Amino acid sequence: MNTVKFSSLPLTPALLENIESLGYTQLTPIQAESLPPILDGKDVIAQAKTGSGKTACFGIGILSTLDLTNFRVQALVVCPTRELADQVCNEIRKLARFTQNIKVLALCGGTPARPQAESLGHGVHIVVGTPGRLQEHLRKRNLRLDNLKILVLDEADRMLDMGFEEAVSEVISYTPKQRQTLLFSATFADPIRELSRKFQSNPVTVSIEEGH
Ligand code: ADP
Ligand code: MG
Repeated sequence: MNTVKFSSLPLTPALLENIESLGYTQLTPIQAESLPPILDGKDVIAQAKTGSGKTACFGIGILSTLDLTNFRVQALVVCPTRELADQVCNEIRKLARFTQNIKVLALCGGTPARPQAESLGHGVHIVVGTPGRLQEHLRKRNLRLDNLKILVLDEADRMLDMGFEEAVSEVISYTPKQRQTLLFSATFADPIRELSRKFQSNPVTVSIEEGH
């Protein structure tokens, strides 16, 4: 049984308070395996089934890395669909709920692009978006990623299934070479390992088998 507590992780007291206020006390298995290397700044490729708490793995990693005095995009989460991007935004906002002045912005298609560009102009710490709309804002220079510290590819298997490989590659081409790259997937098929080889450096592999 998994009995790792959030209080055993190297988190700031404020972040720990945020997490515990959500009623999260014990880490899920994927969190117990992936959070130590994530908090250590390593690239991680993580696989676990849906509903196992993967969002908090990268959400806590991101919140631990942010410099809130710098209103530039420091973390980017790429998701396959708008619905998932919205869920990720909500979970990150929950994890940061007592943190003042933290800006999380969703950049997805199906919504006018201009207000998104205006929001970017006002300063954002974390962007969560879908590949096509991210591409558009990057090409127009509305979105700049020179200060990016963490890149997350969430539901990478679905992004490949949906034909987003080229768009994702283009988005990544705008990120600094020096970055932490986290890849989350429900499966570890060959194309996912290939994606990892292309965009991660010395990744720690974490996989939670069914039944845990
Ligand atoms: P996944 O991305 O693996 O499909 P999610 O990140 O969406 O899973 O998490 C599933 C649910 O579990 C969410 O409602 C989330 O708030 C909750 N959750 C995440 N971590 C914990 C935890 N350590 N303790 C209790 N609930 C958690
Ligand atoms: Mg998820």
